[in-house]
Amino acid sequence: MYCKNCGQECPDDAFYCLNCGTKLRDTQTYYGYKNIRPSLADKPPTYLAQAILVTLFCCLPFGIVAIVYAAQVDTKWAAGDYYGAQEASDKAKTWCMASFIIGLIIGIFYIIAVSG
Ligand SMILES: [Zn+2]
Repeated sequence: MYCKNCGQECPDDAFYCLNCGTKLRDTQTYYGYKNIRPSLADKPPTYLAQAILVTLFCCLPFGIVAIVYAAQVDTKWAAGDYYGAQEASDKAKTWCMASFIIGLIIGIFYIIAVSG
């Protein structure tokens, strides 16, 4: 690309003109959500405690999936994959809910079977 200020040819991935320093692109727009480092307070919840609880008391296979995703939140966050961390957090939450609901249904059927 060419600098609109001085006409210097610059690399396509440059943010500032090599010659005059004029800003060539909006860094935030270019990077998108994936590479913007949010503040530490924005770290998504891991749902690890919930995942362990549902594994023990509700539905073991679904709970394990939730634990796997919960563990990925920290790993991906540490690796700088903030979008991936958010995604893993959402999935951990989903699997926790699924495990909880299935555990509840199994529990209800169990009570019906025992009492019937
Ligand atoms: Zn320039």
